[in-house]
Amino acid sequence: MKTRYVVGGILLTGIFAILFTAYPAWRKASDNGGQQPATPFNIAGNLYYVGANDVTAFLLVDDSGHVLIDGGYPGTASMILNSVRELGFSPRDIKWQLNTHAHLDHAGGLADIQSHTGATVLASHDSAQILRRGGQSDTMLGPLSFLTHLPFLQYPPVTDVQAFSDNKVLELGSHRLTPVSTPGHMPGCTSWYFPVTDRGVQHHVLLSCGLSPPLTLTLFKDKNTIEAFEKSFLQLEALDVDIFLTPHARTFGRWKKYQQNLQNLSEPNAFIDRPGWQQYLKSARQRVDEAAR
Ligand SMILES: [Zn+2]
Repeated sequence: MKTRYVVGGILLTGIFAILFTAYPAWRKASDNGGQQPATPFNIAGNLYYVGANDVTAFLLVDDSGHVLIDGGYPGTASMILNSVRELGFSPRDIKWQLNTHAHLDHAGGLADIQSHTGATVLASHDSAQILRRGGQSDTMLGPLSFLTHLPFLQYPPVTDVQAFSDNKVLELGSHRLTPVSTPGHMPGCTSWYFPVTDRGVQHHVLLSCGLSPPLTLTLFKDKNTIEAFEKSFLQLEALDVDIFLTPHARTFGRWKKYQQNLQNLSEPNAFIDRPGWQQYLKSARQRVDEAAR
């Protein structure tokens, strides 16, 4: 009998020891999604890369105030702020923070960044509702939306957020950005369309919102999601895009294009990639069509 208690005690102590050491490591990993800091750099004109190695963030600078798009995971907020400083800009000069979509990996750091910048956070109507609730949503994952109420999918709520009207140009200081409503990946998903002038030539930039099929499509073949994607693809296909960017760095070739620019300074800017955008859009549509079948 005594031996049983001793063995039980040892087992319990072991389990607690594992929980105490493993939980902080797990929490840290889920806070930053395994992201590493990345070298910030100029993409074109007044547009800079300030994201982590995979989840992206972009800075548009101007004397009238800077615009920061996306906030990464809660744990990548400090990486983004450090990148802004490394480029020689002050986080306090960021006057506006925008967002592609309210998933943990792109909106998790918005509140923390806002506490350092004092910026106005602007989001689409649907995104603003989810941001205010720190990622909780009753529609995001269809019948599995209850999962968004679990702590590990939530992030610090963005309580101070203003909603804008979709597809109407936002005038932020001297910046002009068009929020293109492109839901499907999630409600409220916003792509950002704006001009930059690089080496004297104006180019059209599109930061596309996520286009990968969500569970509502892969598992439930949800009709509303299919319709939302259809409208989104029609909008995106109608745009004239020279430089395309995405919420995950690997899908627009951040590293490859950055290296190309470093090595061939006399060549055209590698981020000007019209065929790359067409290819990306085509394969995104194929993935959605396959998931809908
Ligand atoms: Zn997403």
